[in-house]
Amino acid sequence: MSTATPIKDSQYYIDLENQYGAHNYHPLPVVLDRGEGVFVWDVEGEKYYDFLSAYSAVNQGHSHPKIVDALVQQAQKLALTSRAFYNSKLGEYEKKITSLFGFHKVLPMNSGAEAVETAVKLARKWSYEVKGIKGNAAKIIVCENNFHGRTTTIVSFSNDPDAHNNYGPFTPGFVKISYNDLAALEQALKEDATNIAAFLVEPIQGEAGVYVPDEGYLKAAADLCRKYNVLFIADEVQTGIARTGRLIACQHENVQPDILILGKALSGGIYPVSAVLANDEIMNVIHPGQHGSTFGGNPLACAVAIAALDVVEDEHLSERAELLGELFRREIRKLIGKTDLIANVRGKGLLNAIIINDSQHSPTAWNLCLDLKKNGLLAKPTHGNIIRLAPPLVITEEQILDCVRIIEKTLLEFKKA
Ligand SMILES: *Cc1c(COP(=O)(O)O)cnc(C)c1O
Repeated sequence: MSTATPIKDSQYYIDLENQYGAHNYHPLPVVLDRGEGVFVWDVEGEKYYDFLSAYSAVNQGHSHPKIVDALVQQAQKLALTSRAFYNSKLGEYEKKITSLFGFHKVLPMNSGAEAVETAVKLARKWSYEVKGIKGNAAKIIVCENNFHGRTTTIVSFSNDPDAHNNYGPFTPGFVKISYNDLAALEQALKEDATNIAAFLVEPIQGEAGVYVPDEGYLKAAADLCRKYNVLFIADEVQTGIARTGRLIACQHENVQPDILILGKALSGGIYPVSAVLANDEIMNVIHPGQHGSTFGGNPLACAVAIAALDVVEDEHLSERAELLGELFRREIRKLIGKTDLIANVRGKGLLNAIIINDSQHSPTAWNLCLDLKKNGLLAKPTHGNIIRLAPPLVITEEQILDCVRIIEKTLLEFKKA
């Protein structure tokens, strides 16, 4: 009798997920088994460029040896203490992250959504105890087409019907305005100045389809917030950690948010780590017992995040993202003249998208992604006809050009259904 384990193909794993997992995602039909740097391999051994980077969580590349090493070393020593006790990693991590991003204090959490929830709670508490809003009347201004995560409160202010519908009753206290619209922001601030606690915004709307606001929008929005004594909260879960060519995207306009939300690549994709950063005037409104998380700030998370931030600095990932992003958009724009499939290219740093010249409900972008996969590159449509292209920031110039060739070949050979 043979002792070899039977070879299990992609379909086997796809069937397992279909049968035993909730159908809350619609994955591209590829089953990944291994990753290294900019590459991932499927169970059949096919190699792909990863142009999603787990929604920008693996900016440092898959399984970065320094981050993996930090994880393994720390896991063998001490993984979780809870915050009932001090631990020998948290303070060092807090010192590093606050000095790197220029804030007095950090509140550590795990997922991006938890960090957004934390920022909402922090802003509300500040608004009652410092700004002086009365009677639970605080409001937070948010933008149309936002994506801030999946909790009940966060989906309460989402206008994506899939994210929102049938999850009510919803959390009140949010005012929605259009994105990249300073007049709408000023109007909302003026209308109810005494009851507005904060403005929560993504510096680039990633999930919505990589919408880059006009130059000067973030600076002017932050100034308006200051004028009305309202906190400017930047959700940089996707845009932060060097993705757009700066450590955080707000730095393109020299804006220091009042509250900064980080997640995703804060750990290099090795472990869920998120953070909320603010100065003392804001952070000090939270006292013992008033907010927390069993896993938030655990030694394993701290060791991983310290290593992940070291990699961002040591390997100059912001500078790389800026330079390679320019090159990538320049090369992809050349394709607009060669095919009528691309309507537009937009982005900043290595957070980019091509807008496919077809309706939002056409299968064109999905089918293009299937062909990109056949040609060795993984990307996924967002909102129908938009394909986000966001490789790990450790990608080389030569690899970027190789990927441009793959994208060109795929577009030129594509036959519409
Ligand atoms: C992904 C994302 C989140 C949510 O992060 P999770 O870790 O999935 O909870 C929040 N805000 C933005 C801008 C994101 O891109």
